[in-house]
Amino acid sequence: MKTHRKAGTAALAGLALAATAAVSAPAQADKPPHPNVNTADQMARSIQVENVMKHLQEFERIAKDHDGNRAAGTSGYEATAQYVEKELRKAGFAPKRQYFDFFFESVNATSLNETSPEQRAWPNNPMSYAPSTGASGVTGELAAPQVATGCAISDYAGADLTGKIALVSRGTCSFAQKSQVAGQAGADAAIIYNNAPGALNGTLGGVSDANIPTTGMTQADGQALLAKMAQGPVTMTFILDKTMEMRQTFNIIADSSRGRADNVVMVGAHLDSVGSGPGINDNGSGSAGILETAIKLNKSKKYNNKVRFAWWGAEELGLIGSTHYVNDLVENNPAELKKIATYLNFDMIGSPNHIIGVYDADQSTHQAPVPVPPGSAETEQVFTDYFDKIDQPWVDTEFSGRSDYQAFILNGVPASGLFTGADGRKTAEEVRLFGGTEGELYDPNYHTPADDLTNINVDALRIMSKAVGYATMSLAIDTSAVNGKTNPRPGNGPKPKKVKPQIPHHLKAS
Ligand SMILES: [Zn+2]
Repeated sequence: MKTHRKAGTAALAGLALAATAAVSAPAQADKPPHPNVNTADQMARSIQVENVMKHLQEFERIAKDHDGNRAAGTSGYEATAQYVEKELRKAGFAPKRQYFDFFFESVNATSLNETSPEQRAWPNNPMSYAPSTGASGVTGELAAPQVATGCAISDYAGADLTGKIALVSRGTCSFAQKSQVAGQAGADAAIIYNNAPGALNGTLGGVSDANIPTTGMTQADGQALLAKMAQGPVTMTFILDKTMEMRQTFNIIADSSRGRADNVVMVGAHLDSVGSGPGINDNGSGSAGILETAIKLNKSKKYNNKVRFAWWGAEELGLIGSTHYVNDLVENNPAELKKIATYLNFDMIGSPNHIIGVYDADQSTHQAPVPVPPGSAETEQVFTDYFDKIDQPWVDTEFSGRSDYQAFILNGVPASGLFTGADGRKTAEEVRLFGGTEGELYDPNYHTPADDLTNINVDALRIMSKAVGYATMSLAIDTSAVNGKTNPRPGNGPKPKKVKPQIPHHLKAS
């Protein structure tokens, strides 16, 4: 990965020394907060990581009190929202909830047990949107299609899988198609094994009566089962006991007290966790970071543009809250959408084995797989100029669209954001820049019950929270580099269009 620095090699050498101690020292010692918040630099100084950590402590306490998570549609999400709203009101905001419907699913119990010839449990990951087997599960003999990928009914060569469980390889078509074709062949359930090393966390992409209970397993386990089946019948019991229903959840939207309403800087983070953990790094960190910036911003009288903070709901289920927000404007108030000068997204800013990553809107390192609206590169530059100014190394992370900025960029709103890493692995170069462990995941506890307070790298959170504050204040004062400050962006951008909810960033559809 290419890195960017204005500073010379001497500073880099110093950092390499720091890195050998496996500790990444903050590039800028934490000066005491400035009494005023009149400039972007003063805003950065006023953001204290101790305050951000206090919000995270609240999020963790809430998760503990609510079944270990803060997922969309749960009491843990409601309690998290009430805390954010209370803090916002104290700071002079009038937060509003924007409600929307979403499909709620929660696994009550799941297991995959071989009952014959051996008795043993097999690791597996049930797929999102797979229907429930009920509490007693499905028991049947395993049967594989003649063409391993099972994408067409002809792949089963006329075999009748009634009362059986299909064992199918990943590849060629979507998991939903494999599930439905296995169902057509008569199967009661389907197991899809990976076609590459590693676990398989998949989604059927949506609700369908044609889907059958479906789970994923590793390539090695799939092949072991196929070898066993060659020796004689293999029988399994698959339990996938789930709650699946429509529920309501909401975004929280809070506008700054001041600023011109025809030139809005939008700052967002998703507030929901996954169902499987407390979500302190993903995305308590981003939520707490923008909350602290909001609190400090409302004390200032020295900015020109309205800042709209958003805590998105149901991001983990497919960017649903942010997509709903944008689609609602497209449909009901397109003029309001055009007033958004730029959108800043913060999804994971305290990863334990962190990088200091900036969404690569100018595509200097990564070709973006999504449209990059004009003004995005200039938005990125607000972050990178700040890091260069304080001698903080940083790297580009792909402008992938795989978080809440997607609906914005698909409608021509420029965007950028910060990211300290999720399920990728740290390179030697990144260790040289930021310390940490080479070859290890940026966040080994990503989407697990262990994503708690101990999963936060406080130095990374400090650096990033200050950058959130800096960029927000800088753009609140002046968006001229992005869209022209005194003349808001002319209303001749691309025609707005509704966009579909997306596959969540931790799931694969095929
Ligand atoms: Zn996230």
